[in-house]
Amino acid sequence: MILLRRLADTNKINLRQFKAVITNSDIHTNSVLQKTNKEDFLKVDIQGNELRFPNVWLRDNCRCEQCFHLSAKSRILELNKFNVNVKVKDVIREETSIQVIWDDEHLSRYSLNWLKLRSFTPQEQLKYTNELYRPVKTPWHGNDFHKVCTRHDYKEILDSDAALYRWLLDLSTYGVALVQNAPQSEAALDKIVERIGFTKRTHYGVKFVVENVANTSNVAYLSSNLQMHVDLPYYEYCPGVNMLHCLVQTLGEGGENLLSDGHFAASYMKEHHPAEYKLLIDTEVEWSDVGVEHGNEFFKLYRSPVISLDRHGQIKRINFSVPQRGSHFPCPIEIVKPWYEAHNLFYELNKKFAAKFKTKVGDILVFDNIRLLHGRNAYEDKSDNVRKLIGAYLDWDEIYSRFRCLKAKLYPIEGI
Ligand SMILES: [Zn+2]
Repeated sequence: MILLRRLADTNKINLRQFKAVITNSDIHTNSVLQKTNKEDFLKVDIQGNELRFPNVWLRDNCRCEQCFHLSAKSRILELNKFNVNVKVKDVIREETSIQVIWDDEHLSRYSLNWLKLRSFTPQEQLKYTNELYRPVKTPWHGNDFHKVCTRHDYKEILDSDAALYRWLLDLSTYGVALVQNAPQSEAALDKIVERIGFTKRTHYGVKFVVENVANTSNVAYLSSNLQMHVDLPYYEYCPGVNMLHCLVQTLGEGGENLLSDGHFAASYMKEHHPAEYKLLIDTEVEWSDVGVEHGNEFFKLYRSPVISLDRHGQIKRINFSVPQRGSHFPCPIEIVKPWYEAHNLFYELNKKFAAKFKTKVGDILVFDNIRLLHGRNAYEDKSDNVRKLIGAYLDWDEIYSRFRCLKAKLYPIEGI
């Protein structure tokens, strides 16, 4: 603890923030940290702020042609010649950059903007994370759905990078964004997917049709109530985003979409029902899908808690699906009943916080499949009251990649 405080002091950062980045490997990390000393850092004054950069990191990120391939934008220095104890011999300050002469006479130049964007201060690191790595997610209650679910025009997304950027930003922030005025064609989804990258293919196909099917392989293809769930939790690489293009909508009662922000429900649960929340973040469940589709047999299994957290304690992924939760439960027997109570509470909260609405013909409902739960109210399947959706999945990797390309082009960040 004393060591932590001393390190936090010397680094002039908040102790709480510092502890947050120290993980379970504390003991190992601390013994490694003890080895670093003042000479291992270079101080650079950038716009009145004294920023510190580790020598080893600077040397590793030299942008000269021997160390960095410009067109591949990749490091090419040879690790077997790399000295982690490299020392600075001299620094020459220029107007917008610095030149560093290393103890082996190698010369590196760094632009001040480039350095500033890579600052090691927690504030600057957080700013970069939120601006370029991944936008901050804003949790919402279903009552605010009309405000958070922004509308975007199909043709504008095809024609304008700015419109595409706004749509992807809203989708990543709120986990939902509606595309309107799509042509009434089964191929309409393809064009919009091409603006991002490519679809995520699953055993249900590149695209899938949601309509009432007798003897179905999936409960989504029925007209009865479809309980709120996420799609395909039995995939380790679970599709990140679900796109549902409404081609035919029921005229009568029923068939409404239900959407709930699993992050909102989880935060509520963490605050008001911490013991139940803990059961859902700690207990692994076996998600499963076994069957045959288009002649292909599948036997998918994946183990993960209902609420998966990352190493910072932030929600990484929500898994929830009553039909696709397997009967094998790889947990101690005493956990089972309390887990069911917690699981049911999570479902009740999602129902309570859900938005209810009905998409129109030409709408493409796009939502975060590892964050939101979705479902549908029952409808009466008659010849004059049918419903048909075309669906496709996308990976968040592709969406974030397109988002960053657009951001760099439309709103350049200095030093990127
Ligand atoms: Zn170099």
